[in-house]
This record gives sequence, C-alpha cells and structure tokens, in this order.
Amino acid sequence: MGRLEGQIALVTGGSRGIGEAIVRRLVSEGAFVYATYHTSGERASQLQRELNQERHCVSFLQADVAREEDVERCFEHIRQEARRLDVLVNNAGVTADRLLIRMTAEEWDRVVQTNLRGAFLWMRAAVRLMLPQRYGRIINIGSVVGLIGNAGQANYAASKAGLIGLTRAAAKELASRNILVNCVAPGYVETAMTAQLSAQQQNTLREAIPLGRVAMPDEIAAVVAFLASPDASYITGQTIVVDGGLSL
Ligand code: NDP
Repeated sequence: MGRLEGQIALVTGGSRGIGEAIVRRLVSEGAFVYATYHTSGERASQLQRELNQERHCVSFLQADVAREEDVERCFEHIRQEARRLDVLVNNAGVTADRLLIRMTAEEWDRVVQTNLRGAFLWMRAAVRLMLPQRYGRIINIGSVVGLIGNAGQANYAASKAGLIGLTRAAAKELASRNILVNCVAPGYVETAMTAQLSAQQQNTLREAIPLGRVAMPDEIAAVVAFLASPDASYITGQTIVVDGGLSL
C-alpha cells in the first residue's frame, strides 16, 4: 500500500521536469493525480497514456496558471469528477533572467505573475475544496534563490521569496482546519530550466555545491511525497531546502 492510496492530488506544470517527477512519484504512492500543462500538450498526452496503462491514475488539464478563468475551469472539472482534493503541488514556474538594470517590467511581471500570483490562485481554489473536508496538504515549489538571491534573477528571487511568505501566512491561517502548507526549495536540478546554462556555468555551479552535483528531479519529488504523506503530519509553514548544501 502506498502512502497516498485513494488520495486526489493536483500538480501544476506536470508535463516535464520536476513536475513530471512529482506526478510519477505521487502516482507510485497510490494517488490519482490531476496535472496541468501549459504548452507541452503532446508530452502531456504521452505521459497520460503511459501512466494510465496499469491503472487509471492521471488526467492532464490545459491551463495557464496565472489566468483566473483557467484555474476556475480546472477546479470545476475536479469538483465535478473527484469531488475532493487532498494534495495541491504548486510547481509551475518560469525564469526570465537579466541584470536588474536592464530588466523590463514585462519580464518582471511575467515571472511574478506565473510563480507567485499563480500559486495564490491555485491555493485559493484548493482551499475552497479542502476546508469542508478538514484535510489538505499544499506544497509550493520555491527555490533556494528565494533565500540567498542570485545576480540576474531579481524577478525570480522575489517571486520565490514571496512564495515563502505566502506559505507561512497560509499555514497559520489554515492550521486549525488541518490543512498543512509547506514549501520545498530546490537548489539546482537537472531540467530544461538548467540546461539553458553554458557548460562553464554548469561547472562553476557544481564546484559551489558541497555534494558536487546538481539534483535529479526524483530527489525533489521524494521530499514532496514525504510532505504529502501521513509521515509529515506535524510539519507546517516550513521551507525544506533540497540543495546539496549549496546555501550553507
Ligand atoms: P521546466 O522549465 O522544466 O518546466 C516548467 C513547467 O512549468 C512546465 O510543465 C511548464 O508547462 C509549466 N509552466 C510554465 N509556465 C506556465 C504557465 N504560465 N502556466 C502553466 N504552466 C506553466 O521547469 P523545472 O521543472 O525546472 O521547474 C519546476 C519548478 O521548480 C519551478 O517552479 C522552478 O522555479 C522550480 N525550481 C527549479 C529548479 C531547477 O534547477 N530546475 C531549481 C529550483 C526551483 P509546459 O511545458 O506545458 O508549458
């Protein structure tokens, strides 16, 4: 028996990278997972076909996380079909890196809207389902950059630091209803997001990480699954850093 047997989970940005690993892990723990994709429709269909071969365990929905209408549409679907939601993972995120002096307001808005406004919208809708159940787990995917900053990522660092504040405020607000809210802050993880770095940047990075390597997406998914599971029943409002020691 998996730790999430019979539970309903929702993962934003589940079509690739860390989100895909989270979907796979929650499914392997027994959950039924609704996952969203934005532009990777083909990949989402492939993943849905592959994972549903053994049992019907995944359903992909299209959404831009920052659009209120899309959030409402997805939750209406889940409300009609599953009638409950046990776990929300706010994973979808973007970067638009540039030095502060050259950063456009559009680059600022795009990153903050997707990473922070998006998380707020999905959380608000999830809480409406979780409150009457008196049960819920919300896990926000932050970044170590939200804690230690990074040159060229003012927009991204601000959005991820904002997520930590959002996590803490929501944890206090929802604790009495048995809804636990936590944040996972990865360091560098091998995904499309980090593949954008040059070979030299990747080498410099590895040297700065005490464990001497970037993380694999599964290593982030394992922490998310733990926070979603009964093993984490006394943890709320926390940011769990999963960075191989980078921020030490
Ligand atoms: P990827 O770039 O590999 O994947 C991003 C995911 O987010 C995709 O599924 C994408 O959907 C989705 N997405 C992007 N924009 C939107 C949007 N507007 N609406 C809905 N979905 C959207 O990223 P990672 O897997 O690397 O990152 C996942 C999370 O982890 C992010 O929040 C990121 O900030 C965080 N993180 C990543 C680190 C890393 O080193 N990779 C380190 C620390 C944190 P689609 O493909 O369908 O468009």
